[in-house]
Amino acid sequence: MRVDFVANAGHELRTPLAILIGSIETLQGPAANDVEAQQRFLGMMHAQSSRMSRLIDDLLSLSQIEMNEHSRPSAKLEITSLLRGVTDLIRPKAQDLGKTLVLDIPEKNIFVMGEKDQIFQVFTNLIDNAVKYSGNHTSVTISINVVGREVLISVTDQGDGIPKEHLARLTERFYRVDQNRSRDVGGTGLGLAIVKHIVSRHRGRLDINSVVGKGSTFKVGLPFMDIETADCPN
Ligand code: ADP
Repeated sequence: MRVDFVANAGHELRTPLAILIGSIETLQGPAANDVEAQQRFLGMMHAQSSRMSRLIDDLLSLSQIEMNEHSRPSAKLEITSLLRGVTDLIRPKAQDLGKTLVLDIPEKNIFVMGEKDQIFQVFTNLIDNAVKYSGNHTSVTISINVVGREVLISVTDQGDGIPKEHLARLTERFYRVDQNRSRDVGGTGLGLAIVKHIVSRHRGRLDINSVVGKGSTFKVGLPFMDIETADCPN
């Protein structure tokens, strides 16, 4: 698996690098005096180097998560404000794409056991995917339910949906339902692998439900710690 992973990572980096090298050669040669072509190639170089940068960030994240995968987080984390933070971060991008983020969460403090940066990354990846893989003028809803000793957080979109046969493999590294679509929306193919590792470190679970043409729900279960209503903090 390790050998496959290194080969896949190498392959993923080689494609944008080849485009960068080709563009530099064109700028040095045929486009040396063509200002319009230069702008076009510089735009392409920017897009490809950003793609490499995202890929390297995700690879480093994965290796960091794997390094402490066996140490279970014990900190108390308030999940509703964290979700508000993630949605505030993604909302401008969603709005640019004509999508609405709906936060259906209670006015209470709900505490889970979790490491803030990692849980932030989980919901950034899930909400960002929901925005990326859904059509214009649709909404993405984030909701919370406390069931027994578990806090269930759902991210539901009205997007493409995912055919059944892909569901079991979605969290594999570099697995994509549609390679071109993932590339077009700036995907690295590592987002859900990162989510899976973080959730498993937290002794949580990830459930994926999807209906083609209707949309998908990604549900994360995290260990529940405590609940506080706004007017009764103890
Ligand atoms: P990527 O960087 O390609 O988005 P991810 O690991 O985050 O990689 O997701 C893997 C694949 O799962 C995506 O390429 C896409 O095909 C599919 N996918 C993830 N989230 C959704 C979603 N909300 N709706 C439809 N397809 C999705």
